[in-house]
Amino acid sequence: MTKSLVERLVNGDKLNASEMGQLLRGAAQDPTMLQLLRDNAVRTARQQFGLGIYIRGLIELSSYCRCNCLYCGLRRSNRDAERYRLSAEEVLECCKEGYKLGFRTFVLQGGEDGTHSDEWLEMLICQMRSLYPDVAITLSLGERSEASYIRLKRAGANRYLLRHEAANEELYESLHPDSKGLAYRLQCAEALKRAGYQVGLGMMIGVKGQTIEHIVEDLMLIERMQPEMVGIGPFLPHKATPLGSEPAGDLNITLATIAIVRLMLPKALLPSTTALATLTPRGRLEGILSGANVVMPNLSPSNVRAKYAIYENKASWGKEAAEGLQALEAELQTIGYHIDYSRGDFDNLKQ
Ligand code: SAH
Ligand code: SF4
Repeated sequence: MTKSLVERLVNGDKLNASEMGQLLRGAAQDPTMLQLLRDNAVRTARQQFGLGIYIRGLIELSSYCRCNCLYCGLRRSNRDAERYRLSAEEVLECCKEGYKLGFRTFVLQGGEDGTHSDEWLEMLICQMRSLYPDVAITLSLGERSEASYIRLKRAGANRYLLRHEAANEELYESLHPDSKGLAYRLQCAEALKRAGYQVGLGMMIGVKGQTIEHIVEDLMLIERMQPEMVGIGPFLPHKATPLGSEPAGDLNITLATIAIVRLMLPKALLPSTTALATLTPRGRLEGILSGANVVMPNLSPSNVRAKYAIYENKASWGKEAAEGLQALEAELQTIGYHIDYSRGDFDNLKQ
């Protein structure tokens, strides 16, 4: 039964929620089914992208955050968190090094730092854009106004990662006390789309209260919204959060979910996330062997990296970005893949 569901996904058929649940449960329980799903996802990814894996240089802009997401070590109620914010000069220094190494996408990610005004971000993005006209600039700075998204797009940003986190309203509310709510989050994603960004949704797997049915709801939302990028990784506990003693997300369910997204959205840009690499040593490769085609090495200055702790013991390839890239290339080669140094826009569509 699960086998024919895989075949239908491969053929581009839409599955309904109950079929999707059956497929996910089947893959989580039966290793043969999981393998079948992953093999098909890998075949689809190879048809689209060959054996090249796109790289994105991650620059962690700030560890200040006004939000209080239950799962995240940067939440505002975590008094133990060490806070920092990079200056524009420090960001440009990261870009300089990254560009030299061959990165053609920079991702500015951070907590929702109230001091990041539109003016300041606009200035920074304009500088990056004029110094490096051929790079893609991705933002991952959480919820902002539509006017702000438009302004930053005009300044030169191309993509925006804003995981929806949970498509089920009750689960979303339970994880995000005093947030503006799921409907608002989705409105932000729509605003980003209207502004012309390539948009990234996503969620973590195995966060407290999440059931298979919730993941199915996430998959249905992803199907409906057709994002250009989808970030999926396991939940990892951080001890200074209310979810600090909860178990980490399940590896197989994470891999099955990535594989299903690959089959639903053959052209999507899917990262093999750092969370997956942190969960298990071969995690990064297992993600690629489930249909992921992007990795996001860290370009942040080494003295701030430990402070950007959304969860603990974050995997990395060492302190130096250059060494890191060599290690990544070697890691990819063990499964016959290599780094693709091109910009890697969605369907080669630059916007
Ligand atoms: N503040 C921005 C971007 C930084 S957080 C935002 O929230 O959109 C980036 C992502 O890290 C979040 O979308 C969340 O899905 C993920 N994350 C946060 N805490 C995590 C944890 N404990 N385990 C796994 N992923 C986590
Ligand atoms: Fe802030 Fe993002 Fe962490 Fe939520 S997940 S607390 S918005 S950094």
